[in-house]
Amino acid sequence: MFIEQPPKLIRALYPGAIWRMDPKEKAVYLTFDDGPIPEITPWVLDLLDKYGIKATFFLVGDNVRKHPEEFKMLLERGHRVGNHTFNHIRGFGFLTKNYLANTDKANEMIKSDLFRPPHGHMRAAQYYVLRKKYKIIMWDLVTRDYSNKLNGEQVFEKVKHYVRNGSIITFHDSLKSEENMKYALPRSIEWLLEQGYQFKLL
Ligand SMILES: [Zn+2]
Repeated sequence: MFIEQPPKLIRALYPGAIWRMDPKEKAVYLTFDDGPIPEITPWVLDLLDKYGIKATFFLVGDNVRKHPEEFKMLLERGHRVGNHTFNHIRGFGFLTKNYLANTDKANEMIKSDLFRPPHGHMRAAQYYVLRKKYKIIMWDLVTRDYSNKLNGEQVFEKVKHYVRNGSIITFHDSLKSEENMKYALPRSIEWLLEQGYQFKLL
């Protein structure tokens, strides 16, 4: 449903949600969705530490429950965390009441004022309740590292092609993304630094 750089029409569905930061500033904002998991998240953290970069991780509540060590690691190493529901559920597939309950359940552990809807969508009624409690963070560039139709080199090309000032960039610390993310993330960081981008925290 979403392409790498969501068009204005899609962005307009959620007025007040944040898709991109200051377009006048040569900076990007790294975000990672769907963790934390022991197989991938620590690898990402070590890489970010190597460059002194802080990022925002949109966490699945059930993963936090299963992997409290990795959750603690994220906080201790100075990263920011956001709510990505308890079971990574689709807004359109759930009654508003149930969607909100799932989100509340996740936040009992995550305790964040940031929310990113799984799959990038919510029903309007869900959105209007959630935006009162959270800053809704979407993205300016989704790398599609999870796609089995792309390889690591192509994911890296997406970053180079679509990134711009103020981009909120989405990668995934998930098993599905492992191969592409591990290839594209370090190369993207190096390339963005060469281009003069700063890495900032939401
Ligand atoms: Zn997700």
